[in-house]
Amino acid sequence: MKVVGIDIGGTAVKHGLLSEEGTLLTAGEFPTHAEKGVENLFHNICKVIDGYMSSDILGIAVSGTGQIDGSIGKVIGGNPIIPGWIGTNLVEMLEEKYGLRAVLENDVNCAALGEKWLGAGRNAHNFVCLTIGTGIGGGIVLNDDIFRGDTCVAGEFGHIQIVKNGVQCMCGKKGCFERYASATALVRMVKDATGQVLNGKEIFELEKQGDMKIKEIVDSWIDYFTDGLSTIIYIFNPSLVVIGGGVTKQGDYLLKRIEKSLARKIGENYRRNLEIKFAELGNNAGMLGAEYLLLKKMGRIG
Ligand SMILES: [Zn+2]
Repeated sequence: MKVVGIDIGGTAVKHGLLSEEGTLLTAGEFPTHAEKGVENLFHNICKVIDGYMSSDILGIAVSGTGQIDGSIGKVIGGNPIIPGWIGTNLVEMLEEKYGLRAVLENDVNCAALGEKWLGAGRNAHNFVCLTIGTGIGGGIVLNDDIFRGDTCVAGEFGHIQIVKNGVQCMCGKKGCFERYASATALVRMVKDATGQVLNGKEIFELEKQGDMKIKEIVDSWIDYFTDGLSTIIYIFNPSLVVIGGGVTKQGDYLLKRIEKSLARKIGENYRRNLEIKFAELGNNAGMLGAEYLLLKKMGRIG
């Protein structure tokens, strides 16, 4: 039996056919066209699912952008980039149309679950996951399951305030973690200090070439990142932190510096068993995490 995996992002929808063991057998992608609204999006998703129906399909696993009540598969909030998305119960729509079981869960929660099933967190029962991108997303895995919180919005680490009266955040507050430690923040800090508009990869390349000004900015960005991370570690006392996002392509070059900066900010008992790892599943983590949820919902894995 196979699972249809779908990952709905603000700009693209990724999809694929997955084996029950989490192997991606075929993969594709189409533009979200967020501005055309949820009906158009649902129509395009169904076209993709229809195409997979000649296989023996067990269910449909969806990872999606926004605040999502994963227990029922309904979008309950977030950035309204897709008109009509908030309020949509995608699971109900899919189960009714196809007569198959379906799940919908927030993309960062799915990424955390994907890493738990087959990636950097596969031997851990409790860990936190952070994704560094436009913002900073968070996922909390407790006892092999995602911790959703009372109204399913737990783990929004990006909006922990780390600077009093700092940079304005779209959430309404000032000085949020993601305004200082996301990839977008790094790009902004470089632009403010040097006037250059560079992407993350270019920034690290310049640093490796010995640009001291850039190195100072990257060091400061890492310092902000570990300020926020240490707070999260004080709350959860995890044995593992998994970090995802494009910047993790820097590998040990970045990881070692995060570890060094963090070590100064947390006590011995927090450090003792703590491992910091970069995510291993890349762009497929969301789909795999959604599949993990589906298989759990259907009682096919423990
Ligand atoms: Zn915020």
